[in-house]
Amino acid sequence: MSFENCSNAIDLLSTYEEKDGLSIQQLLDSKIHGGLTYNDFLVLPGKIDFPASIVDLETHLTKKITLKTPFVSSPMDTVTESNMAIKMALLGGIGIIHHNCTADEQAEMVRKVKKYENGFINDPIVISKEITVGQVKAMGEQFGFTSFPVTETGKVGGKLVGIVTSRDIQFHEDDSSSIAEVMTTDLVTGTAGVSLTDGNEILRKSKKGKLPIVDSEGNLVSMLSRTDLQKNLEFPHASKSFQSKQLLCGAAIGTIESDKERLAKLVAAGLDVVVLDSSQGNSVFQIEMIKYIKKTYPDLEVIGGNVVTREQAAQLIVAGVDGLRIGMGSGSICITQEVMACGRPQGTAVYKVTEFANKFGVPCIADGGVGNIGHITKAIALGASCVMMGGMLAGTSESPGEFFYRDGKRLKTYRGMGSIDAMQKTDSNANASTSRYFSEGDKVLVAQGVSGSVLDKGSIVKFIPYLYNGLQHSCQDIGVKSLTELKSSVMAGGVRFELRTPSSQLEGGVHNLYSYEKRLHN
Ligand code: GDP
Ligand code: GDP
Ligand code: 5GP
Repeated sequence: MSFENCSNAIDLLSTYEEKDGLSIQQLLDSKIHGGLTYNDFLVLPGKIDFPASIVDLETHLTKKITLKTPFVSSPMDTVTESNMAIKMALLGGIGIIHHNCTADEQAEMVRKVKKYENGFINDPIVISKEITVGQVKAMGEQFGFTSFPVTETGKVGGKLVGIVTSRDIQFHEDDSSSIAEVMTTDLVTGTAGVSLTDGNEILRKSKKGKLPIVDSEGNLVSMLSRTDLQKNLEFPHASKSFQSKQLLCGAAIGTIESDKERLAKLVAAGLDVVVLDSSQGNSVFQIEMIKYIKKTYPDLEVIGGNVVTREQAAQLIVAGVDGLRIGMGSGSICITQEVMACGRPQGTAVYKVTEFANKFGVPCIADGGVGNIGHITKAIALGASCVMMGGMLAGTSESPGEFFYRDGKRLKTYRGMGSIDAMQKTDSNANASTSRYFSEGDKVLVAQGVSGSVLDKGSIVKFIPYLYNGLQHSCQDIGVKSLTELKSSVMAGGVRFELRTPSSQLEGGVHNLYSYEKRLHN
């Protein structure tokens, strides 16, 4: 073959035995080079013939739940409570609410997420005419919304006689007046059975804030809220239940007997997916718990873990999990590998488990060790469907805890759930942290995590879109139009990899500068 004609370059490629770089199997052959972390390799670029904006990041969280983005916030008490879970779901991911609190506190957090956005509000808070203006003002503070339909019985199902909203009471000075004096009685209503689309249209045309839905006798059955139309427009990727349009919410529990009671409360609050939170998931306790949950709540999705080997995964798959969580010792606050001698480099763990679990249609979450967008791309290339983040989301406006100042820096606490701090949490009868590490009842607690602080990162309303756009551009460089295509092309050998020597890792970072500022997004 002549090499003078450049158009032969493509033909020449086909004479090579293999594509340039390593296949996933060659990359992860641990007999040759041991276990790999995300930083030990790179993905080779492909061909760009499409804009990054069309890259589809839809993925599975569990067998039944799909999300528009692969982002999951970790069930840690410095990462996910209701604020984080609401914003994660609005932005297309999901938050898993931690269980280092009482069951009632955790259920209340789930309830808040589920109540945040609605299609039809099927159980609106309703009042009777006898309630006073002062009482309604107080209810506004308690519930966080100020519009209440008024029925003859003061309950859903009673005859609708009016509605009271903030505008009716805002400038009304006499708190002892009855609601009957101030409520609006000239109402635009929808008829029971109306579709959500048609109900929304009536609401839009009415220019009102609420649309009470009544049956043929004028009894209140549900309500629509204009703010929900706005939320739906503002957050097009939001993770919502298909029917109710409520945000999806996850929560973590342990695997001891009292967790069954906790779970009942979470399910009553509307929980969509439960994560069995254990640092070593392959235990008889977890296997029994999975079977119990699948039998008692067949519609509830169950994520088991954590696992890092296919032997661990197999046990939980047989028990009936709908998803798996992968990682042991890779978390940024974690000292498990040094204390327990157990764990696995995260890159290898993700590949070995997903390669097995994906055969059974069980999606996997890569949990821990995600420090930048590149790590997310790599986790998915290795077979994960989602990534769980703790440290990346800690220190944001949505993470629990107050900001404080040290050395002129604005900081928030971020701590491992296996840190002594978290295990000794005394402000509730919770034992989430000790049970995660099988340490309940121990006289001497052995820490598997540390407690520290992280810099103020601003709101995730900016940060998650940064991850989203970054991941789209990363896929564009690789030449794949979706996360699904990324995974299938990796398995088919089309997407190739390269190992990184220590010096190539140095080369891949910023070097030889006197000083620089690292700003990740505007
Ligand atoms: P308003 O003060 O009642 O006008 O409240 P907004 O319309 O600003 O916000 C109400 C939000 O709370 C909407 O997203 C509703 O879906 C949600 N919500 C959940 N349950 C209820 C309820 O019982 N009553 C009302 N008014 N809103 C509810
Ligand atoms: P979408 O893709 O999220 O708009 O979902 P659908 O295609 O299922 O929407 C059906 C109808 O429900 C449309 O009229 C949407 O605007 C409306 N809708 C979607 N989410 C919400 C919501 O949270 N609240 C209300 N009231 N309507 C919604
Ligand atoms: P990060 O995103 O900060 O790298 O890791 C978060 C993950 O670390 C969590 O989702 C959880 O799996 C794990 N983790 C949380 N707390 C501890 C801990 O105290 N010890 C260990 N070994 N892992 C932890």
